[in-house]
Amino acid sequence: MSTPIQMMPSSAPKKPPAPVQKEDSMLLQKEMINRNYHELATAHDVGRKIAATFVPGNLNELLMCFGLARSLPETNALQNAMRKRSGKMIMDAERDGHSEDVCTYVKADLGMILEGNVGPTGEPLPTPDVLLLSYTGCFTFMKWFELIRQKYGGETIMLHVPYQGDGKIAPNMRDYVVKQIKDNVIPTLERVSGVKFDIDKLREYMRESQKAEENLVRVLQSAKNRPSPIDGYFGAVYYIGPIFTAFRGAPEATKYYDMLWEEVSQRASEKKGPVTPDGEMGEEKYRLVVEGPPNWTNFRDFWKMFYDEGAVVVASTYAKVGGVYDFGFRHDADRPLESLAEYCLGCYTNLNFPQRIAMICKYIEEYDADGLLINSIKSCNSFSAGQLLILREVERRTGKPAAFIESDLVDPRYFSAANIRNRLESYFQMIKQKRAAGLAAHASTPAVIPIATAH
Ligand code: SF4
Repeated sequence: MSTPIQMMPSSAPKKPPAPVQKEDSMLLQKEMINRNYHELATAHDVGRKIAATFVPGNLNELLMCFGLARSLPETNALQNAMRKRSGKMIMDAERDGHSEDVCTYVKADLGMILEGNVGPTGEPLPTPDVLLLSYTGCFTFMKWFELIRQKYGGETIMLHVPYQGDGKIAPNMRDYVVKQIKDNVIPTLERVSGVKFDIDKLREYMRESQKAEENLVRVLQSAKNRPSPIDGYFGAVYYIGPIFTAFRGAPEATKYYDMLWEEVSQRASEKKGPVTPDGEMGEEKYRLVVEGPPNWTNFRDFWKMFYDEGAVVVASTYAKVGGVYDFGFRHDADRPLESLAEYCLGCYTNLNFPQRIAMICKYIEEYDADGLLINSIKSCNSFSAGQLLILREVERRTGKPAAFIESDLVDPRYFSAANIRNRLESYFQMIKQKRAAGLAAHASTPAVIPIATAH
């Protein structure tokens, strides 16, 4: 698609990019995220303590029981990247001794601390009073908190979540996590915050979580429609924001997901496609499932490469990193500690390869996708290891084409637009050829063969 800038005579002044199109839910989401940064910035002034914790396996409802403000380092890194601030932070961290291969979320976080800990919205973020590490499958989480503990000092809580190596949650795994929550996490949070634990408050928050989770699943599953009213990767990044960060369990999250579902269901009933930064998406030509986190430094350009070609992502594994809800899990107010444990155990980062492969194959089938695209992240060892194996196995099982692109999370040095565009173009060609071949095979199939017996 040519842009007005290319059509203008060279003497004409350059037109600024068109303002990003936003729906009401998007404005509310932005306001919530910004407000959380302000709450963090002013927490100590109003006598509140701060907890830092990771997105996968976060115990947000529990932290709220102690009145703690919540800071999520990966979210800080990606928000800085979207504001084009992460490049310098990463280089500062490298100058401070961290290798090029270290996860760039970590380096962006360390660089932010080196630069005075000014948060993405420009307000300085105070030192957290407690680091709550819920260890859900990524070894980097542990080294990351070890590093920031050296910078910040203060209390650190390690919640060890056993990896789902056998692809299931055994009762002793759940009991082990519950025991740690009772014996270690809660007493430490009581000591740091000075607030006594109230399990009824936890139940109350969990009832709110459940309502929000129901609506999030409805929104994500709306992509089964044709056309899909949402983009389940680029658009979903906004949808998962509140529930994956500091808002799960808060009534305002319930309100946000009510509003979002209303907007999305309306779009589905009107047979409209997703809203992109450039407005309504045109005709839906390709339906993809994506594995791997997005690139944040060039997020809008990256998304544009898809919607300009009529490609919509109908499901992504990334939209499940902060909780896998579409296979039925809900926080349960009747079993609050057990369900917190099950939530941590069931995080996408804590699933083994056969589980991830089965999930992707199911998405391809249920969302009637044309294939799988993997965005392999240079510095994310946790997600990147084994991705080629995933790709081959998914292709083998589904018979749908898969493709591989590479970028990085928050390091602008590793986003090659030309490379990615070329690979995407070849991939879309491949899908077209597969479709044509499928149609030809279908046309030559004798009509008497029942579909159910054809493999
Ligand atoms: S999962 Fe990847 S991006 Fe997240 S902390 Fe681990 S290595 Fe970094």
